[in-house]
Amino acid sequence: MREPESPEQFYARVLAATDDEGRLPVAVDAMAGWDIYPYELDSLRMKTLQPLADEEPARRGETVADCGCSQGPPAPDDGVTRIWTNERWHLDLGADSGLPVTAMLMPFEHHDLGHLPADLAAEMGQLVVTIADAVEHVPSVGRAALAKYGDGGAHLHLFFFGRPARMLQLRGSPLLDWEENLPRVPLEVLQANAEVIAERLVVHFGGTAGRLGA
Ligand SMILES: [Zn+2]
Repeated sequence: MREPESPEQFYARVLAATDDEGRLPVAVDAMAGWDIYPYELDSLRMKTLQPLADEEPARRGETVADCGCSQGPPAPDDGVTRIWTNERWHLDLGADSGLPVTAMLMPFEHHDLGHLPADLAAEMGQLVVTIADAVEHVPSVGRAALAKYGDGGAHLHLFFFGRPARMLQLRGSPLLDWEENLPRVPLEVLQANAEVIAERLVVHFGGTAGRLGA
């Protein structure tokens, strides 16, 4: 078996590609050259490369005692943002969004993705499929995208994004760059879209729809 690269070796390769100011060139042959890339290239430049951190920083809720979930459900069912729930999972609406759908799936129990018990993992797989299908039934959505980052909070949270239908410029991984710059979608519009998702989840998966301001 070959020796995998260390963090220092990875960083050294990246650093070697920077210029005198410590900047990488903008990769105009890659994403920045795609027609879906949201920015003009004339004045675009990369930020200078930061030094390698001594260690990965602790995130919010690394232990269950430090996580909001030990105080009950981490996102309150306030009748505004809860899309759907069952005994083990809740799906919540991102209320500040430029996309027709931004939603977050979380288990009630404290787990990160890499340590999810097998029964919850199996249920999550089926939920991901059902939620993705439900998001694509929202009339203004062309495609469901999903993501797991986990750099801020340790408690597992999967993101679902609805890419606006027929806005082909928003396809692919630059979707979130576009999202930041799109006008905010009114909350009542987001809630009406979320009701489509909740209804399909209840029919195809069970569980309970949130009230979503209704
Ligand atoms: Zn937690």
